[in-house]
Amino acid sequence: MSIKENLLNIQSQLPERVTLVAVSKTKPVSDLMEAYEAGQRIFGENKIQEMTEKWQQMPKDIQWHMIGHVQTNKVKFMAEYVSLIHGVDSLKLLEEINKQAKKHNRVIDCLLQIYIAEEESKFGLDEAELDEILDFVQNDKNAMKNIRIVGLMGMATFTDNQNQIKKEFQNLKAIFDTLRDIRLKSDAIQVNTLSMGMSGDYQLAIECGSTMVRIGSSIFGGRK
Ligand SMILES: *Cc1c(COP(=O)(O)O)cnc(C)c1O
Repeated sequence: MSIKENLLNIQSQLPERVTLVAVSKTKPVSDLMEAYEAGQRIFGENKIQEMTEKWQQMPKDIQWHMIGHVQTNKVKFMAEYVSLIHGVDSLKLLEEINKQAKKHNRVIDCLLQIYIAEEESKFGLDEAELDEILDFVQNDKNAMKNIRIVGLMGMATFTDNQNQIKKEFQNLKAIFDTLRDIRLKSDAIQVNTLSMGMSGDYQLAIECGSTMVRIGSSIFGGRK
C-alpha cells in the first residue's frame, strides 16, 4: 500500500476527537510530501536537527511536533517554529522552552511526559514530579508566559501483553482526567490533549481515551 493509502486507511479509523501525528523520523522529505499531498499537516520527529532540516524544506502550513527526548541546550533550534513538544519531563526543560519561546515572541504548547511503562529505559515523570511542576507553574505569577501545558504524553511498555498495555493506558487516562477536572485553569495550564498510542497499540489507546496518536511505521513503512 502507498503512503497515501495507509494514511487514509488510518484516518478512517480515528474518531473525530483523535488527532493523527504522522511520525516521519528517518524518512526522506519525498515520503513526507506524499503524506502532505494526501492532506496530512501534522508531522512528528524525534531529532531536532532532522526536524529543522525538514521544516526548512517543506511547506509552512505544517505543524511540527517534537516527540523525542529533548536536550535543554537544543531547544533554541526549534523554538521559532515547533508547534507541540510531547516529551517535557523536567522543570528545567520547561523553563528553557519558555525562555526560547519568548525570544521569538511565541507561546509554545507542551505535553508533560508521564512514566507509565515497566521498562527502565523510558523517560518521564511520576505523579509526584508532575504535581511539583504543575504547582510551580500555577503559583509562579510572573514567570512562564511563553509556554502552555496542554496535556500529557505517555508510552506503554513494549510488549505483546495487551492487558498490561491497557492497564498502563488506563493509568495515564486516569491521571489525565484528574488533571483536567481538578486543576485550576490558568493561562499556562489548559489540559485538553492526551498523546498515547503508536502503530502497534493505537486502537487500544483510543479505546482507553487517547486524543492524539503518534503513528509512524503503519504510514511510512518500517525504519532501519
Ligand atoms: C517512533 C515513535 C513513534 C511511532 O512509532 P511507530 O511504531 O512507528 O508508529 C511514536 N512515538 C514516539 C515517541 C516515537 O519515538
